[in-house]
Amino acid sequence: MPNELLKRNREWAARQEADLFDDLTDGQSPRFLWISCSDSRVPANEIVDCHPGDLFVHRNIANRIDHDDLNGLSVLQYAVEVLQVPHIVVCGHYRCGGVKAAMETTDHGLIDNWLRPIKDCYHRCHSELDALADEQARWDRLCELNVVDQVEGIARTTVVQKAWQRGQNLTIHGWIYHLSGGLIQNLGVEINSPEQVPAIYRIAPSQNEPAREPSASR
Ligand code: ZN
Repeated sequence: MPNELLKRNREWAARQEADLFDDLTDGQSPRFLWISCSDSRVPANEIVDCHPGDLFVHRNIANRIDHDDLNGLSVLQYAVEVLQVPHIVVCGHYRCGGVKAAMETTDHGLIDNWLRPIKDCYHRCHSELDALADEQARWDRLCELNVVDQVEGIARTTVVQKAWQRGQNLTIHGWIYHLSGGLIQNLGVEINSPEQVPAIYRIAPSQNEPAREPSASR
């Protein structure tokens, strides 16, 4: 029952140190934008043992950030331009129902449109995926490829490109969570400069802004 949640909230608030709320009332300065799935089994703060104020969080089905998604881009812009987070973590998870649904030909209704970029990801990587022995292995691998796709896609957004152009320190990481055991694996995909992004997605320095100069040696 919803009232049970309100009761648990009162109990949780009573257990916290009083200065926690004093510290957080005036603002936030998280160091991480955390992007993960809405799945109830992958709660953001809990699995990395973080406190309120530590993570700026965006969650949706199958942890997607697409360039035509106003919601996701707004979160990204606020995190990068206002909060100036130095790290963006895309944390997918194995056995993701959204990824599984994208692998099927079943009609799931409206959500098939949301899952479409994952189908595109499958299509781009079908040689690798089709070579895998069984459905479970393909599912696991597509969960990983979907994270890599997000890391690359976020690096190509105008928000991130402009941040690097301003000289902002910003790294995008790709991780995946094991539902069994609760451990997070670093997928080893990490992007922190425009040189790691295909040239067609880069933004050239504005004519109105002085180009960044190397720091003086004298
Ligand atoms: Zn999921």
